[in-house]
Amino acid sequence: MSTIPFLSFSRMHADAKDAIYKAFGDVYESNFFILGDKVKQFEEGYARFNKTNYCIGVGNGLDALVICLKALGVGPGDEVIVPSNTYIASLLAISAVSAIPVLVEPRMETYNINPELIAAAVTSKTKAILPVHLYGQACEMDAIMAIAKKYTLAVVEDNAQAQGASYNGIQTGTAGAINGTSFYPGKNLGALGDAGAITTNDEALYKKAQSLRNYGSQKKYFNEVKGYNSRLDELQAAFLSAKLEHLDKWNAERINIAQKYNELLKGTEGIILPQLAEGATSVYHLYVIRTKKRDELQAYLAGKGIGTVIHYPVPPHLQEAYSELGFKKGDFPIAEEIAETCLSLPVYPGLTEDQISYIHTSIRQFFNQ
Ligand SMILES: *Cc1c(COP(=O)(O)O)cnc(C)c1O
Repeated sequence: MSTIPFLSFSRMHADAKDAIYKAFGDVYESNFFILGDKVKQFEEGYARFNKTNYCIGVGNGLDALVICLKALGVGPGDEVIVPSNTYIASLLAISAVSAIPVLVEPRMETYNINPELIAAAVTSKTKAILPVHLYGQACEMDAIMAIAKKYTLAVVEDNAQAQGASYNGIQTGTAGAINGTSFYPGKNLGALGDAGAITTNDEALYKKAQSLRNYGSQKKYFNEVKGYNSRLDELQAAFLSAKLEHLDKWNAERINIAQKYNELLKGTEGIILPQLAEGATSVYHLYVIRTKKRDELQAYLAGKGIGTVIHYPVPPHLQEAYSELGFKKGDFPIAEEIAETCLSLPVYPGLTEDQISYIHTSIRQFFNQ
């Protein structure tokens, strides 16, 4: 029996090892650890990668989204539209500025927010839409931007999972007024600890966010607003620059693995494969299948040494932390169905053809038994 972990850093770490060790040495010898040249270099590099004018490095992905909303002036009593099947951080960012998350169901096929349902959720209190490019696939941004324009709403993209994806040729993290991403270690571009970034093309928002991440200050000891301490540190920035060099190649490898799964698993009775919206690409942060026998399949694959994970077992409206919203089971049936049936298969640079083949055979065996 072979053992295939759900996620392995081995190949990525081998690819970047020399540059990472050098980066550590450079920062160590520089004696400079906060908001120096390494952060600046990474911000420039990531802005270039993401095709945005500006990038602001911050402490993590949640803080990135909080600062985006704060920079836009979203505050107490305002409503922000967010998908009902996202990771909890998207909602926590909204709550952190005392605004109210308004949940909108995803499309069952793509797992991304259904633009056709957004208009019905708009009220006089709505300030922003926060689309989440879930599992690595770009949301249908043309439709979302059109609704935002019609109702004069700001758009903040949660691009934590989709660095490098695009919709109709436009990169994720560039269409919204100001957008957040995460470099949590397991993300497509992962730091060696916590890290995140904000991307924008708007100079005024750029300056606001830059100030907000650093105590609300542009000039040391002069504070124009009440800000946060959420700075990307020099060490993580240097590590991220080293890994950014490989991101296009790593994303291409994830896409290649997803295509192999698509070919091999096509037509397997009992499982539904992930689908792309017309015009959308995915960088396959996750490869998520659905099956009514999810728990049994997961246990079977574990018995074969194959690691899988559920993203995510409990949708936000059923989380204890959000009992204040007053929802019950049945209120967001699509999000609930996805939570009950989804299973993420291994997808990461370094996963071999043999491993993919073994995973495929094991899944077939499960459904044929
Ligand atoms: C990872 C993630 C975040 C939060 O990022 P952190 O760096 O862990 O704070 C936000 N939204 C989504 C969709 C994520 O996957």
